[in-house]
Amino acid sequence: MPKTVTGGCRCGAVRYEFTSLPTFMHICCCRDCQYFTGTDKVFVVGGPRESFELQKGSPRTYEVVADSGATIVRAFCDTCGCSLLIYPKIDGVFYKPEDDVVEVCAGTLDDPSAFSPDFAVFVSRAPSWTAFPKGLMLHE
Ligand SMILES: [Zn+2]
Ligand SMILES: [Zn+2]
Repeated sequence: MPKTVTGGCRCGAVRYEFTSLPTFMHICCCRDCQYFTGTDKVFVVGGPRESFELQKGSPRTYEVVADSGATIVRAFCDTCGCSLLIYPKIDGVFYKPEDDVVEVCAGTLDDPSAFSPDFAVFVSRAPSWTAFPKGLMLHE
């Protein structure tokens, strides 16, 4: 496996790189992720913020307050509309250092097959027709 992982949006206006390998992949079924993707869930690959770099472009962002009370930033390409990034807004109040991660939508990786999900969260928010990979650990 290569030492860095790259990706970007459909039109190429936004490009990113993890300078060290991302540390996790999971599925989130929360309502915010459903609106972000326009479907039942999102597959995200993530790693520490210091390992993440935007190489090109600046995605458009909006902020939402999650159930945890944390403010989460969601970023997308304002040219092609591709959903790209999810990361906590660090304000020194809600976050512990271990929360300082950047997640990318797995479909925006140059190689979307490079990782596979470890678990799913907020599955109780998923619509009745949602399906999960076999054997996946599910958290309500
Ligand atoms: Zn784009
Ligand atoms: Zn979510």
